[in-house]
Amino acid sequence: MTDHYDPRTKTLRLSEPVYGSNSMAALGVAAHEVGHAIQDSTGYAPLKFRSAWVPVANKGGGLSMIVLIAALFMGGAATAGGQTLATIGVVMFATTTVFTLITLPVEFDASRRALRSLEAGGYVSSTELAGARKVLNAAAMTYVAAFVTSLLTLVYWAYRLGLLGGRRG
Ligand SMILES: [Zn+2]
Repeated sequence: MTDHYDPRTKTLRLSEPVYGSNSMAALGVAAHEVGHAIQDSTGYAPLKFRSAWVPVANKGGGLSMIVLIAALFMGGAATAGGQTLATIGVVMFATTTVFTLITLPVEFDASRRALRSLEAGGYVSSTELAGARKVLNAAAMTYVAAFVTSLLTLVYWAYRLGLLGGRRG
């Protein structure tokens, strides 16, 4: 169980180490999740889009590997059938890349809201705020890494299957 806010059930869940701690890291994470709850209550567009996109990415991403590997066996863009399958596979995989991309504004905004409310509410001093900021920035970097990884994987498959005009077959 990880820390998260679920917009479908309007539930905010915190893991034991975050819930039971008053460290800056725990406070930052908790405030970040509250940031998601506020995004939901104010109808923050990127969050709405991301929630709507989850089933699309789950379906597309889940089946994409089978389609991509099948396209590879068919010779990729070198054959008509292979090209069609390769295109479908890449589009399916791209749904997960879109998901990791739309996650970025959602996560950055939640952290921005978290730091703002921690400071405005007088819950932390400005020195302590630096600690919370550090933790949230580190968390944000994992989302950036996820997007870059997904994008590189997408480009790899498009290239491998000959869709980028590179290798044929
Ligand atoms: Zn988050």
